[in-house]
Amino acid sequence: MPPFFIPIVGFLLWIGLLAAVMPSLRLELNLADQAAAPHFFLSQLILILAWAFSGPLTAAILTGLSTLIVFYLCLGTRQPAFFLQVLEYLALFLFMVFFLYEIQKITNQKRLSLERLAEDINLTAEEIQKRIALKEALERKIERLLGLQKLSAELKDLKESDAVARRLAEHALRVLPRAEECAVYAIRPEHEELALLAGLRTDEASVREKEGTVFDQWVLKRCQAMMIEDARNDFRFLTDPGAASHALRSVCASPLVTENKVLGVVRASSRSPKAFNSDDLRLLDVISSLGAVHLRNILLYERMGELAIRDSLTGLYLNRYFQYRLSEEILRGASSGKPLSLILLDIDHFKRYNDEFGHAAGDLVLRSIATLLHGCLRSTDLAARYGGEEFVVLLPDTAKDQAAQLAERIRASIEAHRIVLRRTESRVTASLGVSSYPEDGRAKEELIWAVDRALYDAKEKGRNRVVVCTAARGRSKG
Ligand code: GH3
Ligand code: MG
Ligand code: MG
Repeated sequence: MPPFFIPIVGFLLWIGLLAAVMPSLRLELNLADQAAAPHFFLSQLILILAWAFSGPLTAAILTGLSTLIVFYLCLGTRQPAFFLQVLEYLALFLFMVFFLYEIQKITNQKRLSLERLAEDINLTAEEIQKRIALKEALERKIERLLGLQKLSAELKDLKESDAVARRLAEHALRVLPRAEECAVYAIRPEHEELALLAGLRTDEASVREKEGTVFDQWVLKRCQAMMIEDARNDFRFLTDPGAASHALRSVCASPLVTENKVLGVVRASSRSPKAFNSDDLRLLDVISSLGAVHLRNILLYERMGELAIRDSLTGLYLNRYFQYRLSEEILRGASSGKPLSLILLDIDHFKRYNDEFGHAAGDLVLRSIATLLHGCLRSTDLAARYGGEEFVVLLPDTAKDQAAQLAERIRASIEAHRIVLRRTESRVTASLGVSSYPEDGRAKEELIWAVDRALYDAKEKGRNRVVVCTAARGRSKG
């Protein structure tokens, strides 16, 4: 039996005993007088045990009950001994009630101070959390600032726009952890269009939008940074089918602006919605401002360089630049052992064409042939305006048979092309010669002489054809 119940059981036994002896006590008052002392001793023992094992509350309840029982005994026996006991029990009961009341008061006070303490602990914990968050935010800011400082130092050492753009994209991808793609575009001054300078993706695929997305156009047009949480729900693009169907859902983009001049756009994007927040946009804005400062001079320098090596009418390289690149490629071919080929193209009876349709139409022909050439060439090939109506194409890593096939494709596309000026339709043909390194010559002059001979043969054989040089000393076949 648990100790708690021992005094209670004792109390019940005591009541049972009293109930049993009560009739005899009533009859023999003398006996009652004698029983008062042992009864008092027994009941006090029970109350002491109750206090010790069952606690003050149970002891107080038992004392109250004992007071009533003794009062009943006193009434039944009318013994002064019991009357005194009633007073004693009553005093004991009052003392216990007072004691319990005091204990309760102290307990309440303790509970109150405990509650206050818990509240203080909660407030302090909250304050600590806030400070930790603040510290982390500050650390992140410091880290971002240090990163920007490092980026700025690195950009200073770069001399090419592509390298600067690549570095900007790398940095943006690193500091915007949810970005899946970062693209840097520059405006092509002649067309006022965007051209991809560098594009990086976390999945290592290449960026497909070489001339920018609708989002880049938006930033460019308004010259302001923009963040899109979800392109499919953004009011600015709701009616734009290009934006609605776009795989990019989150976009964070900023214009490359310096000294009030827009140079391009930097865009970070993700295929998941809500990838960026306003902090990310601010950071991208700083990155693009930093990039713009560095890009401005480099782009200017590169464009000046381009102007010096490009023909203003066709946009193709000038002969001077072609000569320089040919020397370089021959050197490269000599060390790598890879072949290279040349195609020389001359428009047939162009003088006659000019006379018949006018010089402006002639200029249009030259421009459209430059465009046709671009459409046929790889990015590693180089097309130049060799002379008035002559064009030359340098094909690195290209053997003679591949070059001959390409020349034939060029010839056919020129023949098929219709030139329309002032509602008058006309067309031209061209003759082409092909020579290759090393079989037609190991020196630059030899190769040019060989290709010139092949072109001459093409003209001789009736024009509008391709002639491939068959040996270094000017033999060629059509
Ligand atoms: P062939 O088939 O033998 O090459 O005959 P051709 O008339 O093309 O040859 P020719 O060398 O006699 O004439 C070249 C003409 O190209 C002369 C010139 O008027 C024209 N030409 C050269 N540069 C330009 C240019 O920038 N614009 C225009 N419209 N014509 C040019
Ligand atoms: Mg000519
Ligand atoms: Mg000609």
